Amino acid sequence: AKRDALSPLRGEGQSSSATLPTALLPTSLRSATLSPQGGRGSLSFADPEAIDLTGFDGLIVSPGVPLNRHPVAAKARAAGIPIIGDIELFAQARATLPAHKVVGITGTNGKSTTTALIHHILQIAGVPSLMGGNIGLPILAQEPLPEGGVYVLELSSYQIDLTCSLDCDVAVLLNITPDHLDRYDGFEGYAASKARLFAMQAPGHAAVIGIDDAASAAIARSLAPDILTKIEPGEMDQSRWPSLQGPHNAQNALAAIATCEALGISDEAIEAGLASFTGLPHRMERIATRDGVAFVNDSKATNPESTAPALAAFDRIHWIVGGKAKGADLDACRPHFGHVARAYTIGEAGPAFAALLRDTMPVEEVGTLAAAVASAAANARPGDTVLLSPACASFDQFRDFEQRGDAFRAAVEALR
Ligand code: ADP
Repeated sequence: AKRDALSPLRGEGQSSSATLPTALLPTSLRSATLSPQGGRGSLSFADPEAIDLTGFDGLIVSPGVPLNRHPVAAKARAAGIPIIGDIELFAQARATLPAHKVVGITGTNGKSTTTALIHHILQIAGVPSLMGGNIGLPILAQEPLPEGGVYVLELSSYQIDLTCSLDCDVAVLLNITPDHLDRYDGFEGYAASKARLFAMQAPGHAAVIGIDDAASAAIARSLAPDILTKIEPGEMDQSRWPSLQGPHNAQNALAAIATCEALGISDEAIEAGLASFTGLPHRMERIATRDGVAFVNDSKATNPESTAPALAAFDRIHWIVGGKAKGADLDACRPHFGHVARAYTIGEAGPAFAALLRDTMPVEEVGTLAAAVASAAANARPGDTVLLSPACASFDQFRDFEQRGDAFRAAVEALR
């Protein structure tokens, strides 16, 4: 934003002080964004419906702002100013950083796992690297890497929408299945957002694409074959990678291998990294075994597609499902319903899911997570698995999926 254009902000709400992460901010923006009137660290708040954006250079928004329906986005478009996010600020700051590479990872499911895995392999290989974007600390809050470093960025579609010049040395697309459709003009709009990650790359930079689904395969077909590695399903030996089990993790592992090969990492370091990777919390995380019953926290599974592999991975499951549903059905999970001994529905989607499941399995409409854990633990027999894999967003009952997973852990620990 432009300093002298900020006057409309003053006096329209509370003012308060805050510090913004600046370590990686382009130098030109450090003073401009932080010094509206009152000096460094001073922010003004304004009503987005009332603000006049005339004279601003651009609008920097959080990826949480729905560009398709937020009034401030419409105003920015009307004023003809760019709408960007922190990833674009990072992209613009790259010229000032020591020589480095950037890996960008997107996809509907598997982003965090693949990002953490690539970062882990780079660490094993002795390459300076950090994770940012949709995972861990915001990229601008982190210290720049020394020369030869690799920035490994998990990128949601929203973050891709807010950048126009991020040239990834390796761009990774795992898969595209329907999700977040409330923010796009249908599935095509969502897929087009993913495709932009490749459109922003300089010629010759590498692409890694999972081609299990039609939309990803179409993007792969549009790219030059010499820069592209296609990840296809198939038989592979995952026995040496304890935290990368299941077909979905085969996709993640193969994408990480292709990415690290493109970065010139040795086969030895790649194999050592795959073997020593410990996975991420809230993703198929085995948190306890009590009286022969395993308790698995898969709180991160916020849609039916990401719950399906969890249901495929166990027999005799006591399945805790529900929350804020993104769609009306659980069709992606249906092939694995035979593995479910009993379902416990929670949250806003609870009643609808109970009605949906009742024909195929015993169902308890319990409402809360704590009640679900108590009932599941009482019903489970040795060898069974109590699985929180809700196929829904969390925000009807929790702040985020982490808080939901922590609540699951606390409920399991509270069992007598
Ligand atoms: P994201 O960051 O894209 O949400 P995560 O790595 O956090 O992905 O995994 C979220 C959930 O999606 C996991 O619980 C897992 O069951 C499922 N999942 C992980 N990788 C894949 C994949 N490649 N394809 C489909 N589902 C996956």
